[in-house]
Amino acid sequence: MNPVLFPNREGRALQEEKLTALLADVDRRVARGPVTPTINLDHFKAELAGFDFHEPRALEDVLGWTIARLETGLVHLNHPRYLGLFNPGPSFPSQCADRIAAVFNPQLASTATSPAAVALEAYVIREVGKKAGLGPQAAGHFTSGGSEANATAVICAATRAAPDFAAIGSRAFSGQPVFYISQDSHLAWIKIAHQSGLGRQAARLVPTDGTGRMCMQALKAAIAADRQAGDVPFLLVATAGTTNAGMIDPLAACAEIARQENLWFHADAAWGGGAIASDRRRPMLAGMEAADSITIDAHKWFATTMGCGMFLTPHAQVLSDAFNVATSFMPSHVLGLDPYVTTLQWSRRFLGLRLFLSLAAAGWAGHGAHVEHSFRMIAQLNDALAACGWTIANGRESLAVTCLLPPPGSKPVPQIVAQILRSGTAWVSVADFENTKVIRACITHGETSEDDIAKVVEALEQARLEG
Ligand SMILES: *Cc1c(COP(=O)(O)O)cnc(C)c1O
Repeated sequence: MNPVLFPNREGRALQEEKLTALLADVDRRVARGPVTPTINLDHFKAELAGFDFHEPRALEDVLGWTIARLETGLVHLNHPRYLGLFNPGPSFPSQCADRIAAVFNPQLASTATSPAAVALEAYVIREVGKKAGLGPQAAGHFTSGGSEANATAVICAATRAAPDFAAIGSRAFSGQPVFYISQDSHLAWIKIAHQSGLGRQAARLVPTDGTGRMCMQALKAAIAADRQAGDVPFLLVATAGTTNAGMIDPLAACAEIARQENLWFHADAAWGGGAIASDRRRPMLAGMEAADSITIDAHKWFATTMGCGMFLTPHAQVLSDAFNVATSFMPSHVLGLDPYVTTLQWSRRFLGLRLFLSLAAAGWAGHGAHVEHSFRMIAQLNDALAACGWTIANGRESLAVTCLLPPPGSKPVPQIVAQILRSGTAWVSVADFENTKVIRACITHGETSEDDIAKVVEALEQARLEG
């Protein structure tokens, strides 16, 4: 037995204590330091090249080195002024879950090997599905992220539309199968179209309506034109919380069109779905309850560690139809409901524990308050900048993302953003909103404070005028 790989109880306890202390220290320093990396990458790569795996070093040294380099070598998603791409400062319960999962290291492919863990995940999925409006038959599973959940939606929708899709792929359709997404949807859909075997052309990008939402007229026209041409529409995807601007496609109207056209209706609420926790904001997602499937990433507004997505559906049977295989080597599965025969993955990590601990300990109310905090902080940012003459390009009907335009006479948007990132005060980005370059800021961090907002406003004002 190698004592480094498998130290004895005392050795392990000692190292764990030191590691815990190191991590607590670095966590405190990160929140006070720059958001953006300061590392010299060439120097770092040279150091890396010095690791000769024929000559092992003490684990303690390697741990210290790794933590120190990550401290300067990352954009810190856990910094309260990371106003970024939906990834949160992770909640403490989800970090606890990762520690627990690392010790038991359960294999969630089957009920036979992990009965309690599989049942726990199924329970969390059902409760989240019910909260999302799918009713008591809500089913689904945890995924590596939104992309896997969205890929699952495509496979389920295609399998339901043409059951032979399972056996012969796209040839099961009488023409090219096509699905509809808004031009502002998450473009992983293009990769998903490719990887599902439908081809990238299957993803039809529908124009937005001038406010960042899918245009219903354009959608209807596209469906009609595709049918005319002999293509076969099978899926409509509405985005609830676009990446660039946090806008919500008209969910109820999309549900109605999907019903009329006999399309699978999927709501991609990877980030925005977190709003189900807030009774006050839930009405913004009205229409989502009519979905055949929903994507929600727990690693976004539910603030779990990365990556933790969810696929939710009231049609459990389709999952079995799409992913069932018979093997001789796997332990016998329960009525075809084991995760390895109802999902894309096979070996699977215990992701659901992260959301279980969060919901069990903080409750829906705790997560609702977390969502409200984002709305409050983004409103404060918008108010302060509007008072300085800035324009909120996406209005104030978005989820907690703002698209900002500086007053006339300011430096160009990309230069302002570059200056902010150089200073390390905050992380914001350049995005396109309705053909205009905007500064995008999203607040999902539970610890972003009024003081942080004031610092961001000051930095933006300085950056737009400087130089
Ligand atoms: C983040 C996101 C995705 C992709 O999810 P990953 O977790 O990054 O795989 C898809 N759609 C929307 C709307 C998203 O916000």
